[in-house]
Amino acid sequence: GAPQSVALVIGVTGIVGNSLARILSLPNTAGAPWKVYGVARRTRPSWNADHSLHYIQCDISDQNDAESKLSCLTDVTHVFYVCWASRPTEAQNCEVNGGMLRNVLGAVIPNAPNLRHVSLQTGAKHYVGRFELFGKVEAHEPPFTEELGRLDAPNFYYVQEDILLEEVGKKEGLTWFVNRPHVIFGFSPYSLMSLVGSLCVYAAICKHEDVPMWFPGTKAAWECYSTASDSDLIAEQHIWGAMDPHAKNQAFNCSNGDVYKWKHFWKVLAERFGIREYGFFEGSNLRLSEMMKDKGAVWEEIVTENGLQPTKLEDVGNWWFSDAVLGMEPVLDSMNKAKEHNFFGFRNSKNSFMNWIDETKAYKIVP
Ligand code: NDP
Repeated sequence: GAPQSVALVIGVTGIVGNSLARILSLPNTAGAPWKVYGVARRTRPSWNADHSLHYIQCDISDQNDAESKLSCLTDVTHVFYVCWASRPTEAQNCEVNGGMLRNVLGAVIPNAPNLRHVSLQTGAKHYVGRFELFGKVEAHEPPFTEELGRLDAPNFYYVQEDILLEEVGKKEGLTWFVNRPHVIFGFSPYSLMSLVGSLCVYAAICKHEDVPMWFPGTKAAWECYSTASDSDLIAEQHIWGAMDPHAKNQAFNCSNGDVYKWKHFWKVLAERFGIREYGFFEGSNLRLSEMMKDKGAVWEEIVTENGLQPTKLEDVGNWWFSDAVLGMEPVLDSMNKAKEHNFFGFRNSKNSFMNWIDETKAYKIVP
């Protein structure tokens, strides 16, 4: 018969969208069998093509495009919104990202009679504000718990949560879910923020140029406990949120449930790329956005020599993001609420880190 669960994944080629697409098509996933619609702007990349889904090219920032391509998806039961746009100021971020979410919900909610649930992904910046504000506005003290109040600074996550509640309130019985991951370990060459992918590209360039792989971050990031969120775990939490009555109409943190230190993971990265000299360069303040700014031609050489998927350095090296994450003192969140509500998912962060390095190699993004 017709599938009962019909997902609309907005941002299906992104770092979590790609995991959602894979996990939703597994036969033992809660709610299976899922029919999946996946939305992104660019044509479908080869590394996403194995997932069984209906791919829709649509620019959700364009209200007409969203209306014409999404309002006809009348069988959708669940929306998973794992997408965002980056703008120079937070005021613009609020406007653009709020508009994108509104365009999707405005096209789907009135036209999909069986729609039951909308899942939104925001993140730990809910608790600290946008990267540029670190240390400038009064932020919460980690470990972060979900009930902490909003900061006194504009944040597109707050705008999106408000729009989500407003739109969902328009239809009787419709439920919502928000998850707030930490730095995501996953795979997507189309992501605006892939730390593992970016570090793999940096490692490949160090190896190619035969130079030491210095840690591009602060001593605090090198030495302190950090946490991360595996993209498959986040996808699992979205699906749990869609299926479990304990999870409805609430926000949940989503991180791996363990801690690590970059000084240990740096060795893992170096070994995966056969780099012998690596470490923390004392007294330095290295930033990848500086170190990598003239490496476009080197990257082309690496791609050609190794027969890699054609990519541009500026797409696969999200240097600003890596600089933001590794340039600060790490902050931790709490997974107590998720556990208290019966979500016990976790990942071993070292295995997670290695797994996504290996995926990045397997899809021929790096040698
Ligand atoms: P990604 O940047 O990895 O993926 C975005 C996806 O959306 C891609 O498939 C992209 O494909 C698509 N997309 C972007 N713009 C549009 C558009 N206008 N119309 C249609 N599709 C579009 O997303 P993330 O998972 O990183 O981000 C989701 C949320 O998670 C954000 O709020 C982010 O801040 C948050 N987060 C992310 C973290 C991370 O480490 N990445 C950490 C913590 C939170 P295409 O470009 O082809 O359109």
